[in-house]
Amino acid sequence: MLVKWEGIVIRSVDYGESSKVVTLFTRENGKLGLMARGAKKTKSRLAAVSQLFSHGYYLCKAGPGTGMPDLSQGDIMNSFRELRQSLSTTAYAAYIAELLDRLTHEREPNPFLFQLLLQTFGHLDEGRDPEILCRIFETKMLMVAGISPQLSACVNCGAQREPYAISVTQGGLLCPVCLPSDPYALAVTASTWKLLRLFQVFDLERLGDIEVKPATRNQLKHVIRSFMDEHLDIRLKSRAFLEQLERMERLTQPGQSD
Ligand SMILES: [Zn+2]
Repeated sequence: MLVKWEGIVIRSVDYGESSKVVTLFTRENGKLGLMARGAKKTKSRLAAVSQLFSHGYYLCKAGPGTGMPDLSQGDIMNSFRELRQSLSTTAYAAYIAELLDRLTHEREPNPFLFQLLLQTFGHLDEGRDPEILCRIFETKMLMVAGISPQLSACVNCGAQREPYAISVTQGGLLCPVCLPSDPYALAVTASTWKLLRLFQVFDLERLGDIEVKPATRNQLKHVIRSFMDEHLDIRLKSRAFLEQLERMERLTQPGQSD
């Protein structure tokens, strides 16, 4: 039976001498594995569509059982060429793709996530701020995993009393009165928790230029990563590489170091 899916390649690994196993995140069916026979050969008509980050329509031969469908043809709609030009943007995209892969199960349709991934790659391709896009994507993925930090009032007593800190274990803001309940609470500025709250409800369709100071960027990253490390049991290969790259970039841009 032939089926056609719209999808984005979030993983592509070599299989044998000449083939690839492609993990596709589809609009209709969520995550799927496909066998792309011969795709490793440069002249193969499947070579381009099997590349990481490619977005297109994938025509597949699905077997009668639950076996992996065979990719027979693909039409690329967007190869995100600009995104691939820079090592840094590629590293962010690889991290985003791996995060999505690790936090989703096969054949669980989620058109919202498909749209989010497509918009994120589109913005990266247009040269928008990769770090902020990555933070927004992480925030949304935490929500997909069932972790939405409570950011409208103190998570412990419900009062609206600033200045807040953030408790990763209690899952949200802590007012000054409740602060002693978590000795590991993270100190944050108001801009940090307000941006985090914005990211939770933010529609990427309306992304303008968000100007964020380096100190706030560091806090955002620290808070989100702390939630991920505390509540999600995953280690991402692409994250280590991205962090190495960020350190190098900070060394070459001394103004960004505060
Ligand atoms: Zn409180």
